[in-house]
Amino acid sequence: MEAKFQELKTRLMEVDDLSSAAGLLYWDQSTYMPPGGAAARARQTATLSRLAHEKFTALGIGKLLDALVPYEENLAYDSDEASLLRVTRREYERATKIPSEFMAEVTNHTSASYQVWTEARPANDFERVRPYLEKTLDYSREAANFFPGYEHIADPLIESSDYGMKATDVSRIFADLREELVPIARAITEQPPADDACLRKNFPEAQQFEFSMDVAQRFGYDLQRGRRDQTHHPFMTKFSLGDVRITTRSREDNLSDALFTTLHETGHALYEQGIRMELEGTPLAGGTSSGVHESQSRLWENIVGRSRGFWQCFYPKLQGIFPAQLSDVPLDEFYRAINKVERSLIRTDADEVTYNLHVMLRFDFELAMLEGNLEIRELPNAWRERFETDFGIVPRDDKDGVLQDVHWYFGLIGGSFQGYTLGNILGAQFFATALAAHPAIPSEIERGEFGTLHTWLKENLYQHGSKYTAPELIERATGTSLSIEPYIAYLRTKYGGLYDLGKAA
Ligand code: ZN
Repeated sequence: MEAKFQELKTRLMEVDDLSSAAGLLYWDQSTYMPPGGAAARARQTATLSRLAHEKFTALGIGKLLDALVPYEENLAYDSDEASLLRVTRREYERATKIPSEFMAEVTNHTSASYQVWTEARPANDFERVRPYLEKTLDYSREAANFFPGYEHIADPLIESSDYGMKATDVSRIFADLREELVPIARAITEQPPADDACLRKNFPEAQQFEFSMDVAQRFGYDLQRGRRDQTHHPFMTKFSLGDVRITTRSREDNLSDALFTTLHETGHALYEQGIRMELEGTPLAGGTSSGVHESQSRLWENIVGRSRGFWQCFYPKLQGIFPAQLSDVPLDEFYRAINKVERSLIRTDADEVTYNLHVMLRFDFELAMLEGNLEIRELPNAWRERFETDFGIVPRDDKDGVLQDVHWYFGLIGGSFQGYTLGNILGAQFFATALAAHPAIPSEIERGEFGTLHTWLKENLYQHGSKYTAPELIERATGTSLSIEPYIAYLRTKYGGLYDLGKAA
């Protein structure tokens, strides 16, 4: 049995080597590759990904998993060995249920769809991508139907990124949150918006990066096992537990862009750097779900990085770096500026309060499309109507409406958005639990110290990688299941200090 288990680990390590190499090619493509490399690079990445998939879905892996069933029965549920077998079996079953010819067809279709979207969006031409999107919806339904026995057709698609969550769970959580959130958002957006002109002066890039990377390291980001580079669409990527990288972008005329994308990606990187070395090279060596991953980027970016206590410590340093731009801007004005709430059209630019309404709109539409209750041709109008109900404004055009996010044009429809809002909810829940255990955390943050918080997160979340599903991890870390209460309390306290919440308080 021991020998079989070792053989499985060796094979899984080879799969990980191939996918990490593909990841490195993608990182290079997004950072340093000259444009002439594009065609060959697409082919090289596809070859490595195909080899990784073939190696993982090979019959040999299935046979080893079968042979190891009696071995697993004698192991404790939370041992590394049992967890490895459990998670590998789950991923193997998932990967082998979808035929590889179907996957290849979908990949061809979505790259064509993406290409058309890159032209249709700036041209504000939904009709051009409509036939592609209709085909994508067909493929999405077909993909879900490889997993018969679901409650809702979106379940198999949601489970690919947020395993353990079903459409009905997410719908219920979102409905509860929406009931609390809409009155808060309405109360705030009926008041004059905060003035954020102080963030829109000229801030040289080099100093912006120096400051944000200084904060990232103080959070606990280890540059012996990480680095930062520039890109257009920021992301975090990992090639091994000893090499977890972030990419960011900056704008000289906007101070918050580089700063908060760096803190966001740092949160993702802290999670991956905190995974125990013993899990290296196995399917356990990664974050457990998109919701839990996003909870860490949001916690470090927003709950810590946009808090008053944090800036009490760091604002004098920032003023020292940009004296001409900020010396006459008081801390209060800066704090209001980085927490400005407004009705906006674009999800990725949205603030903490309105962001979730953008996500819920997309999630509800995904369910309706998959159910057959919303046709693709009705989508632009449905978007405008829902937007007016939720935000009180109507998008000028489809470019800033239904065409704005890449997700549906580059992948399947279903399961692609709920993780963002689950992350906001969970970030607050984990933070509240850490605070209850260590009430000194806020005063430590005011002194620029993050060790107690980082250690709590490592011990309770990061070290486990994917050993536990998100619902299991939430239960272990907080003693209860997912709850929106800490998040609502956080928003009420923070934004009640910035705005008059009226009846929503
Ligand atoms: Zn993120």
